[in-house]
Amino acid sequence: MMKEKYIMAVDLGGTRVRLALSNEDGSLIGKVQERVDKSNEEAIAKQIITIIRSLCRESSVDLAELEGVGIASAGPLSLKEGALINPTNLPFEYVLLTKPISKELGLPTYLVNDCTAAVLGERAFGAGKGLDNIVYITIGTGIGGGAIVDGQLLLGKDGNAVEIGHLTIDFEGRLKCGCGKNGHWEAYCSGRNIPNFVRMKLEEIDEATVEKSLIYAKVKRDLSKLTSEVLFNAAKEGDKLALRLVKEIGILNAIGFANVINAYDPSLITVGGTVTLQNKKLVLSPVRRYVKNYVVNRIPKIMATPLGEDIGIFGAVAAVLKFRPR
Ligand SMILES: [Zn+2]
Repeated sequence: MMKEKYIMAVDLGGTRVRLALSNEDGSLIGKVQERVDKSNEEAIAKQIITIIRSLCRESSVDLAELEGVGIASAGPLSLKEGALINPTNLPFEYVLLTKPISKELGLPTYLVNDCTAAVLGERAFGAGKGLDNIVYITIGTGIGGGAIVDGQLLLGKDGNAVEIGHLTIDFEGRLKCGCGKNGHWEAYCSGRNIPNFVRMKLEEIDEATVEKSLIYAKVKRDLSKLTSEVLFNAAKEGDKLALRLVKEIGILNAIGFANVINAYDPSLITVGGTVTLQNKKLVLSPVRRYVKNYVVNRIPKIMATPLGEDIGIFGAVAAVLKFRPR
């Protein structure tokens, strides 16, 4: 009998890095979460190496029993160099990841865009089993996507295909995106930028209505304290203005989803990210309702990912399974 092999999965975000030791069938044995060490650009790889060693020790798994290390990270990245290049959520220009890790541990190490990994994870372990046309969309701090079309994972020349958060949805470009360009989907509907959208809309609304709203009360009359959570919580409590703004965000999301459906023609779209997972109905209902106004292709099933917050981890496992030499 062949000895069982394990996979080390890394989900690297702007704030947290999460690691899990997994079986090949995606059952997770041990998990660790830490704040990302941003002391210098080499610190992140070192931190990952340290956690891998301790996770293996705790689970009595030898490094030699690992099939490889999969890293799912927000981009932009260079697939070939195994590095992040001007990452939007880390304060460095260049973060080399795969080389130092594979050299130190003697293990094949793969870096993929977190949403590219996620769509692989969805197909291997989630709602996309057996499907050849799937898109994954995250609406969290930022907006991103991954796509499998005709059974092929879309990667692009550098590994940055399906950067859908930077599709332009407002040709007037009223709001500026974290990438520096104007009018991108992410600049309006991501967790980080929803407050900018809300503040812009509130300027168009008469003061009395704004002052009566729960949004205003929740930030103690200081709109600089606004967060996407404040908006969605006010909407959940039935605040009329908050519900109206959530609907407008939903219409913009529907435009983004329609662009994605028109481009990739998927049979399933799964949606993750904290903004979605914490407000499934408020985020997904308006998308389902309004997408038909913008789409030409047949509308696919649209649902929250059943893998929840672990989709990055499952994606990193699936990436190793896909990219390891056979
Ligand atoms: Zn952008």
